[in-house]
Amino acid sequence: MTLRITQFGESILLEKGKKVTSFDSGLTQLANDMLDAMDQAEGIGLAAHQIGKALQFCVVDVPEHPEYPMACILDSKPLAPSLVMPLALANPVVSPIPSDEYYCEEGCLSFPEIRGEVARPDRISVKYQDLEGNAHELECDGLLARCIQHEVDHLHGILFIDRMEKNTYAEIKAEVKGLKKRTQECLKAGKLPEIPPKQE
Ligand SMILES: [Zn+2]
Repeated sequence: MTLRITQFGESILLEKGKKVTSFDSGLTQLANDMLDAMDQAEGIGLAAHQIGKALQFCVVDVPEHPEYPMACILDSKPLAPSLVMPLALANPVVSPIPSDEYYCEEGCLSFPEIRGEVARPDRISVKYQDLEGNAHELECDGLLARCIQHEVDHLHGILFIDRMEKNTYAEIKAEVKGLKKRTQECLKAGKLPEIPPKQE
């Protein structure tokens, strides 16, 4: 069964996630189910809030792009990003590393078809625990760093629209409000809001 991806307008997306405390087979199963749901929705990251669990837990799987290499240093060891992904992060804490902040268009599986530019630092360090509870520190940049920042925001109830500049948000405000209305109408009717099927 594929996990349903929560949609903007569902209150869970605004909650602060609880810390992960059990590193058992249930957590591994959750990571696998989240990766499946993310792949099916063609995403590169997914936070627990997006499958209906307010937990400090997210998964990412960012493809490498020949034109935009990403640095990736895991526990002080430089590695090819493909060797660390897919990556499950429990209790992640992000610290920006002094670097240029840059704008890039972002989307979010809880906001189908809605995109907008967000400024974020290029380089970060993230401390997290793996599925066995072992502590790690990953330093990265580029799309991987952006994706992790976006997902870790979710774990604190922060959404990409909260990070947008006023002018950027103004351009998509009507779509965001429309989505929220649709989600809430769905919930009122006792249905669970889902990502609408892609229009061909
Ligand atoms: Zn998102």
